[in-house]
Amino acid sequence: MATVAINLATGTFQQEEIIVGIDLGTTNSLVAYVHPDSRQPLAINDQGRGSIVPSVVHFPADGHDPVVGNEAREFLLTDPQRTIYSVKRLLGKSYRDLGQHASQLGYKVIDDNSEGLVKIRVEDRFYSPIELSADILKELRARAEHALKTPVNRAVITVPAYFNDSQRQATRDAGRLAGLEVLRIVNEPTAAALAYGIGLDPSEEKTVAVYDLGGGTFDVSILRIQQGIFEVLSTNGDTYLGGDDFDRAVVDHWTATFGLPEAFHTNPQLQQQLRLAAEMAKRYLSQHDDFTTQLTDAAGQNTTVTLTRAQFNALIGPLVDRTITACRQAVADAKLITDSEQLATKLDAVLLVGGSTRVPLVYDAVSEFFGQPANNSLNPDEVVALGAAIQADILAGNRRDVLLLDVTPLTLGIETLGGLLDPIIPRNSKIPTKAGRQYTTSVDGQVNLKIAVYQGERDLVSQNRKLGEFVLSGIPAMPAGLPKVDVNFLLNADGILKVEAIELRSNTRQQVEIKPQYGLTDEQVEQMLMDSLVNAKEDVAARLLIEARTAAEQLLYQVTNFTRKNRQHLTKQELTATEAQVEQVRTALTGTERDPILKAMDELDELTRPYAERVMNISIQQAMAGKKIE
Ligand code: ADP
Ligand code: MG
Repeated sequence: MATVAINLATGTFQQEEIIVGIDLGTTNSLVAYVHPDSRQPLAINDQGRGSIVPSVVHFPADGHDPVVGNEAREFLLTDPQRTIYSVKRLLGKSYRDLGQHASQLGYKVIDDNSEGLVKIRVEDRFYSPIELSADILKELRARAEHALKTPVNRAVITVPAYFNDSQRQATRDAGRLAGLEVLRIVNEPTAAALAYGIGLDPSEEKTVAVYDLGGGTFDVSILRIQQGIFEVLSTNGDTYLGGDDFDRAVVDHWTATFGLPEAFHTNPQLQQQLRLAAEMAKRYLSQHDDFTTQLTDAAGQNTTVTLTRAQFNALIGPLVDRTITACRQAVADAKLITDSEQLATKLDAVLLVGGSTRVPLVYDAVSEFFGQPANNSLNPDEVVALGAAIQADILAGNRRDVLLLDVTPLTLGIETLGGLLDPIIPRNSKIPTKAGRQYTTSVDGQVNLKIAVYQGERDLVSQNRKLGEFVLSGIPAMPAGLPKVDVNFLLNADGILKVEAIELRSNTRQQVEIKPQYGLTDEQVEQMLMDSLVNAKEDVAARLLIEARTAAEQLLYQVTNFTRKNRQHLTKQELTATEAQVEQVRTALTGTERDPILKAMDELDELTRPYAERVMNISIQQAMAGKKIE
């Protein structure tokens, strides 16, 4: 693994090749590394241009190579068709995923195939978001190589905690296109925590909130870190809320207050001037109380605009409130506290990430909500890249003490009626471990039972990963619900899962060995966890619907069975009424609403209960008279 490189600047051998950490942001990107001597993470600031590289790619009209960063940013309004920003929003997305947002971009997004991944059109050429992200990564790589005077071939890249598999894969591919071997994709909040030194000591246990307000996106994550394992308890946020909205609020305010000439809204150069002045005001007010500047229109006419911090706070107040609402939801989803408990006692730290957390009102609102001063001791622009650099350093083998995994990262369970996952070994269980449950059959006379084993956090098996299945056969024919089948999971220290099913009445048994980790990368595991958090609400609704469906199907089975067997004891009216109501349930089952199903079921149940009881009594009498019950 270790390669030898010569540092041309110092003429010394470098023992290990440097692996960089990259924050590939929606608005800004950065590259960082851990200094081999000081062991400190540092953001790379090549040629004094600052460490921040705006995530903007401009294709010059003369067909020359694309330019990236501040240079490209200049063209945002003057040459919007050839200047691509916020490409991270498009990564790994299909045109359908984008929906109405596609038309809000300044450049052209192509609808080549609604299922396929989006492409961006610049004149007669098409670019994928992966290629454009690769352009940004190439620029970062070049800056790193230039500053470190050594080749950079390997990297760790961060992504938002909520990124799905396709978005993560796209990020990886962008790295590869930029000539980088991507050793790991790391969640941004995890990187932020690492930068703050949280999670580096395997013996500590911490719960932290990471509040990340960037240029165009906001997200908050609650993490639990123990034994080097970063568990995302919840995430929340708004992918269309950020510092750009603050700028827009300022522009709107000035427009309304100072009667700016119409040209400031139609002429790209003047629009740009106005927008940049608004951003400048915002940044200035992070440190001062009053801002004044002059805007000059095409005719050389000056308009003085001013803004105080109090005015600015009033403008952005509602936006900041929205972030706090998301924080409240994240805290609730993480189930950190009961009503009477103080949030501050359950959270070890609140970490601020993203340029927009420099706004004092944001700092105050976040600190107030979490009941403790938020931690902003690291540069919020750099913190994610710094954490990525630390992760890179760990992967380079320079910190051998961190990141162990001795728990099962995902829940293991089996499929039950209606395609639901019934968890048997919950995620984060220490291994080796053993757990089991009892099941039964759902149909009369069922002699085979399929045991399908799944791994994942979603309620529906179809959204989890199937590990294997087997059939327990030879169950003696019995009425539904009578057989007792014990399903046991044994997970050994090597991560090998043994599944065993035994029908207790007949002692029929079946056993298989399953390797749960096979083919699952760390990222896939993270992904499945993330999906379960992001989709928790939908899953609950889907589960409730499936449960209602399953219950309705069971009821239909029982009722039709019952009427078939007991026709002679029922009146004609009872039979027709039952048939009609059975039809009602069937109709409800064709829909996707839970309530009509439940209602139709209740009605059927109510209708049939009295005569079911009556028939039961008849059966009992017949049984007492020595007759056989079916
Ligand atoms: P992203 O993670 O989305 O790429 P960043 O974390 O780099 O974005 O945040 C960029 C945003 O931070 C921009 O809206 C920028 O105006 C804002 N920002 C940067 N510095 C300051 C500051 N001093 N005060 C207020 N906002 C700032
Ligand atoms: Mg960011």
